[in-house]
Amino acid sequence: MVENQGNSEEMKSPCTSDVDPRASSSSKEGKGKRLWKKVKFQLVEYHSLPGYLKDNEYILRHYRSEWPLRQTLLSIFTLHNETLNVWTHLLGFFLFLCLTIYTATKAPKVVDLHTLQNLPEVLRNVDFHKLQMELRTCLPSLPNMPDLQKFQQELKTSLPSMDYLPSLSNWYIVELLYNCLPERFSNSNHTDVCVLHSMKEDVANIISPLMVRPITRWPFFAFLGGAMFCLLASSACHLLSCHSERFSYIMLRVDYAGIAALIATSFYPLVYYSFMCYPAFCNLYIGFITLLGISTILVSLLPVFQKPEYRGFRASLFFGMGVSGVAPILHKLILFWHQPEALHTTGYEVLMGAFYGIGALVYATRVPERWMPGKFDIAGHSHQLFHVLVVAGAYTHYRAGLVYLRWRDVHGC
Ligand SMILES: [Zn+2]
Repeated sequence: MVENQGNSEEMKSPCTSDVDPRASSSSKEGKGKRLWKKVKFQLVEYHSLPGYLKDNEYILRHYRSEWPLRQTLLSIFTLHNETLNVWTHLLGFFLFLCLTIYTATKAPKVVDLHTLQNLPEVLRNVDFHKLQMELRTCLPSLPNMPDLQKFQQELKTSLPSMDYLPSLSNWYIVELLYNCLPERFSNSNHTDVCVLHSMKEDVANIISPLMVRPITRWPFFAFLGGAMFCLLASSACHLLSCHSERFSYIMLRVDYAGIAALIATSFYPLVYYSFMCYPAFCNLYIGFITLLGISTILVSLLPVFQKPEYRGFRASLFFGMGVSGVAPILHKLILFWHQPEALHTTGYEVLMGAFYGIGALVYATRVPERWMPGKFDIAGHSHQLFHVLVVAGAYTHYRAGLVYLRWRDVHGC
């Protein structure tokens, strides 16, 4: 126990890092078992790594090599060349966990000014028969209703966003009230302010659920789940792969499966909410990307897939998966070019594509460390940049997903 704590401290010290354990053991052989254990968990250089841990020859130092599981787990809190790789995706995981909780609890209830501005258009699609029925049953204060003009004024001030509307005079709900219940309005001669407030609230409560008819959330949560799985798997892979060859083999596969899952599930909100009124296309695209994702995971199970010389192949396989998203995006634009939401989401998707595309390029080319080997061992090497770009791309996609949800909640098909 004491020795382990000593080892942890040893790992933190940058001046004692980069010592080959084999060289150290030979030079300090006579100093006993305790000293051997002490130097055993120091960081090593690239040339002294076992073959399966040799991945990037431009990162020269600060490697952990075949540490026991406990030391490997504790190394999340120490500085080595994987520290930032672990934390970039671990923080990304917590970000998406918070976004998932937010989406599950808050996002469906959001009715902002943007949606209220579409009210006349929304009301055109409302089931008026149902609205009439609800108005009759849900306005207990109607018998005491003051004159219509005053009621109309009160409603105007209670919903400020309505002032932006050029078609306020055509506001259907007031017409509806007038047409639906003319006798009660005309018979009433009270001007009780409390009654008006009560009316306002009643009407607002009736309008809101009719404006927003939440559509299914599973494609959005599938994406959030895919993102969280990818980020957590990647973080665990970077932390644990150095433990043993078997661990490395398993963790790399989990990591590749995570990337494939993130790309595949990213298609779900895009495809589902774009083509929810065209089930044939919806099923076609979702089926295609699901099959492609499963195939990629199966290919990544082949031992040859993780070899350094296949880095370009790995990058292009994931890149190709992502690029196939161009087809549904163009298709969406053709079908909904007149819808602002279609353009808005496409803007986010182009930005996401840019993040992932640059990420794949950085991953494959190993820039900047190839220009100055050894200078970016701890911070700034290509894989860390790739991680940050992946989180940025996934977050951009989340923002696009919120636009899809609002679009379909308000407009339906
Ligand atoms: Zn990674």
